[in-house]
Amino acid sequence: MPLSSLDQLVARAWRRTESVLQRHPRRLTAVVVAALTSAGVTAFAIAPLAPDAADLPRRLISESIAPAALDAQLKALEEFSPELYRSDLTRSSDTADALLRRLGIDDTEAAAFLRSDPTARTILEGRPGKMSKALTANGRLQELTVRAPAASAAQQGSHFTRISVRRAADGQFTALSEQVPLAAEVRLGSGTILSTLFAAADESRLPDGITSQLAELFSTDIDFRRELKRGDTFSVLYEALTADGEPITWGSSSSGRLLAAQFVNNGKRYDAVWFQEPGSKGGYFSLDGSSKSRAFLASPMAFSRVSSGFAMRFHPVLQSWRRHLGVDYPAPTGTPVRAVGDGIVTFSGWQNGYGNVVIVQHAGGRETRYAHLSRIDARRGARVDQGQSLGAVGATGWATGPHLHFEFLVNDRHVDPVTMARSSESVTVSTAARARFTETAQTASAQLAAAPAAIGARFE
Ligand SMILES: [Zn+2]
Repeated sequence: MPLSSLDQLVARAWRRTESVLQRHPRRLTAVVVAALTSAGVTAFAIAPLAPDAADLPRRLISESIAPAALDAQLKALEEFSPELYRSDLTRSSDTADALLRRLGIDDTEAAAFLRSDPTARTILEGRPGKMSKALTANGRLQELTVRAPAASAAQQGSHFTRISVRRAADGQFTALSEQVPLAAEVRLGSGTILSTLFAAADESRLPDGITSQLAELFSTDIDFRRELKRGDTFSVLYEALTADGEPITWGSSSSGRLLAAQFVNNGKRYDAVWFQEPGSKGGYFSLDGSSKSRAFLASPMAFSRVSSGFAMRFHPVLQSWRRHLGVDYPAPTGTPVRAVGDGIVTFSGWQNGYGNVVIVQHAGGRETRYAHLSRIDARRGARVDQGQSLGAVGATGWATGPHLHFEFLVNDRHVDPVTMARSSESVTVSTAARARFTETAQTASAQLAAAPAAIGARFE
């Protein structure tokens, strides 16, 4: 995203927040309270004048609830067919009937169509978690719209699949599948850590992809697996990708970009803002203009909901192996493992103890080792870029449970990978772009500082 548009996005997000504040129900509440108070006063004032309940003529009351009027009402209710919208996500266990039932639909014709029509059938095929919205009348399906990831991997970040099932006037169903562009919307979010980062993110309705980007962004400042504290806070400004105006619920790969973020960990504040110099790739910078990217990543695995919640459930097989030098990252088998820095693969294959292992040589006498892999993606002699996949977590060699055994060596001596990442080389914003950057950074920082109050107001 070009810098100028970030300013506009920040301004737009702030205007939206202001309009939310203007619509804030506090004023409404005051009006309601005033109305209730005057009603109360009125009731109190006339109460002594009202006849005693026991003295009320009973005959009058029974006449006012005439059976004929009830019949008419019931008949009117029968004829009135309320149209209802209901939404839900598809589940892996869903059958046509089960999905329709959750959407409040009892319609055998619709279920039969979902089972037999080649286009409609795709709703229940593939990955679950598709956003489904049904329009019903009297429990019968009128229209079902399902939104799912784009059909082709190349379009996952830009498009979505919309499958529409409609009942025509003659009662016949039709189904249509289309690839539709996603829209981006700028949003503010903020939260406080009470247990885990993902729990706080859920509370603030942050998409998983944004939460992962947030952890990744501050990974050289904060070790999110070990240093997170109860009471830590964060604020984010991000692009949410929407499908027909609704934030998408699937895959982190297709979520929008984090534009600016602030994280307060153990009382210390960290800020970052997305900035793109003309002709360059763009990246995150702290407010002083130094890049958040380092020559080495702090972790050989991306921070995700799955790996962050995966507990240590194994013990090293051998006493000698237990004393090995390295960091163990417990994670489910198949979790992608990435190169922490640019380099050349000097070993790729099996070694005793390590199992499947990849060894990468980096500049400056630095070397990284990735062991117990279930799958190897890099061959010996290959040049790898930072973040490139080397394979997947497994339990090969001397491992009793799935985890990544990771080593960082400098001139053949083991070092702490996180310390290495923190002290490794980074770039700063060029002198030419400095003024522009300062402006962006100040605007973003002001918005983030106001985010908790602005967002909190909505939930009062
Ligand atoms: Zn280990």
